[in-house]
Amino acid sequence: MDAEVREKIHLEILKRTGAYHANDHILLPSGQHTSEYIEKTLVTTEASFTEGLGAVIAKHFAQWPIDVVLSTGPGALILSHCVARAHPSRPTLMYGTKGVRAGKRRLIRPTTKVVIVEDLVSSGTTVKLLSELVEELGGQVIGIGALWRRTKKAEIEGKEIFSLVSRDFPTYTPEQCPMCKKGMALNQEFVRRREHRKPSSMREGT
Ligand SMILES: [Zn+2]
Repeated sequence: MDAEVREKIHLEILKRTGAYHANDHILLPSGQHTSEYIEKTLVTTEASFTEGLGAVIAKHFAQWPIDVVLSTGPGALILSHCVARAHPSRPTLMYGTKGVRAGKRRLIRPTTKVVIVEDLVSSGTTVKLLSELVEELGGQVIGIGALWRRTKKAEIEGKEIFSLVSRDFPTYTPEQCPMCKKGMALNQEFVRRREHRKPSSMREGT
């Protein structure tokens, strides 16, 4: 199956979870407008879909023995779990937040082979930081598995990004926005929802 067909299938899967929105007119938290949007919190709501997507990433990296699957954070953790579960080496799963080193030091040693898993790769800053951390500890980053790659670069610092979907979508200022020009209604759902979420996430212990 060629890459293009495969991507279409993955995109269809994301559509079925309700995570992928297209042909819309969406207000982003940045104030920019776009016609496409990926709602990360919905990506992993269908367990069997997530398992299937994780298995695709695991299969890609199955040719290498992997010791650790390193999730970039809690957002990518469910997908990371599915990758680790499906990989033949039965790697350990851990999640990294930038700067937390204690746990990693125990699991990442010289010669440890790591796959980093991220949900959405845009600038790649988080992946780059974690990759540097792994190498600092003597480990080796085999590659990066991602759900979605928005950057045109298919690698970060020489490490391959294997993504289920590679697709960037343009964002516009309201003045330049073609959907505004057409008079399409602006969907503010994602910005409102985010504001609504703030108080609970700021509560201690949540
Ligand atoms: Zn607009």
